[in-house]
Amino acid sequence: MTVKKIKSVCVYCGSRMGNKPAYEELATEVGKLLASNDMTLVYGAGSIGLMGVVARAAKDAGAPVIGIIPEHLDAIEITQEGLEELHVTDDMHERKKMMFDRSDAFIVLPGGLGTLDETMEMLTWAQLSLHKKPIILLNYKEFWSPLVGLLKHITDDGFASEEHTDLLTIVESAEQAFEHLTS
Ligand code: AMP
Repeated sequence: MTVKKIKSVCVYCGSRMGNKPAYEELATEVGKLLASNDMTLVYGAGSIGLMGVVARAAKDAGAPVIGIIPEHLDAIEITQEGLEELHVTDDMHERKKMMFDRSDAFIVLPGGLGTLDETMEMLTWAQLSLHKKPIILLNYKEFWSPLVGLLKHITDDGFASEEHTDLLTIVESAEQAFEHLTS
């Protein structure tokens, strides 16, 4: 059960588009659902890949968007224009901490190594009781099923408890993700 009303959601997702059109459709849906649920988007400030798709969809639908990018990626990830707030941090650590501080919950869309790193960091911080913010893995079209399998393998072999891996809420659609955040 979610105790605190979720006002801002950090979306972790790819800085690439992936190679299936469905990923872009999902990112667009998530952006629109943020706006229709009166939520602010917190994200990595890029205009490229699924990151850019979520941000533009959220912004176009009226959601405030907060972008947080480290100085060294400012050029590479091509900072999205027209954000409500844009923060340029000194380094990745400061970026990740600020993204965490500004968010009430996390939604993970398909993505690459950076997305995986960010997700595992939030999960390990939850495991250490550093926060109780919901972390939702959107296992859209089974994209994250290998990760779900790995987490089960880790618990089966005694390296984590289910209590901790269960801190990651797994859903299959954007609608289910928002149902979870608003229930
Ligand atoms: P990716 O999933 O690799 O496309 O990256 C998605 C986002 O994660 C981008 O904003 C990257 O800047 C960021 N990112 C990339 N590598 C890392 C990393 N090692 N730690 C944290 N974030 C990263």
